[in-house]
Amino acid sequence: MKLDATILRYITKDEIRVLTAIEMGMKNHEVVPVQLIESIAKLKRGGTFKIIQGLLKYKLIQHLNKQYSGYSLTYQGYDTLAIHTFMKRGHIREIGSMIGTGKESDIYLCVDNDGNEIVLKLARLGRISFRQVKNKRDYLNGRSRHNWLYLSRLGAIKEFTFMEALHGAGLPVPSPISQNRHAILMSLLPATTLLNVKRMERPQKVLNEAIDIAIRIARLGLVHSDFNQFNILASEDEKIYVIDFPQMVSRNHKNANEFWMRDLECLNSYFSRRFEVECAEFPKLEDIEIERNLDEEIKASGYVKQGLNKKEIEDLEQLNLVNLKEDANLEENEEEEGEEEENEEGLENNEENKENSEESLSEEEEEESKPEEDEN
Ligand code: ADP
Ligand code: MG
Repeated sequence: MKLDATILRYITKDEIRVLTAIEMGMKNHEVVPVQLIESIAKLKRGGTFKIIQGLLKYKLIQHLNKQYSGYSLTYQGYDTLAIHTFMKRGHIREIGSMIGTGKESDIYLCVDNDGNEIVLKLARLGRISFRQVKNKRDYLNGRSRHNWLYLSRLGAIKEFTFMEALHGAGLPVPSPISQNRHAILMSLLPATTLLNVKRMERPQKVLNEAIDIAIRIARLGLVHSDFNQFNILASEDEKIYVIDFPQMVSRNHKNANEFWMRDLECLNSYFSRRFEVECAEFPKLEDIEIERNLDEEIKASGYVKQGLNKKEIEDLEQLNLVNLKEDANLEENEEEEGEEEENEEGLENNEENKENSEESLSEEEEEESKPEEDEN
């Protein structure tokens, strides 16, 4: 799933409006019928259908014929909306090469307006285990919001919020720049993953430093839960950094001890195999004093600052991203089958739909939508 930067260069205002209309429709519909797209997009000159054909051609949307015919955003379409917003905010000038791809994200180098390289992370939650995600629908209040769009967005918000909090607490993490939809922008670390480091001058010092970072995170009331050679980076002069926060848990999480032990034991055995050093003994989680409860602070104010409502915060809490990661490992190649149980409810739910539309129109796409309407 490659990003096509030329699409972003040439996309028109009307195309963005139609994409945005489909995104809004998807809040209550798995597929969005043309009439609804038209009524949300309200193009001054009409021509919605023609624009839909263009968006289809560029694979920004897909046509689905389920209980009824309609359209839904593809990842490519959702990416386009997020990146378009970053460009409007003046954060990105150019999209560069892909530097990483995981089960739940794609990572791109970008160039900002000052010519600096920065990193774009696009969440791809549910790419692999959509069925598992669907099974978690009960957690998500049984609503139609269990789709990947929603989950990826929650994942990105969680990651960005934690990055801000850790960065603010002085941990060596990327500097958070901006977040929109399922995407986050951060600084490019001058470092490479431990996995790519073949030789080290002072491996024992680096291992001790990594364990020290885990301890500092624990003092903030958190466990990283994916603290390993893939998510720890080292610079040329062997300074280390940590990335990748969607699966972080509070020390109150029922499996926090288990995750803590797994993190440190795996890291220790990695260092022992590759660099022939190890840490004889690392502290138990319960022996580390909690100095601040970052998780509580984020729940109490961080998420609200990001614009999440109460329901979304609940969903984010209940959607256990650690489990999701583990499910993803089990369910390779699981594709979305697309069950239709909620479509009827969605179609009849016009009131709520209207509400959502207005809410969203007044958010990000205001600049696109307002001026044209005001002209008349
Ligand atoms: P995933 O959730 O898919 O594991 P990560 O956040 O771990 O995604 O990023 C995947 C890879 O991208 C990392 O292993 C690293 O090589 C690279 N990467 C991610 N963020 C940065 C960054 N800020 N600076 C440098 N490299 C990064
Ligand atoms: Mg990672």
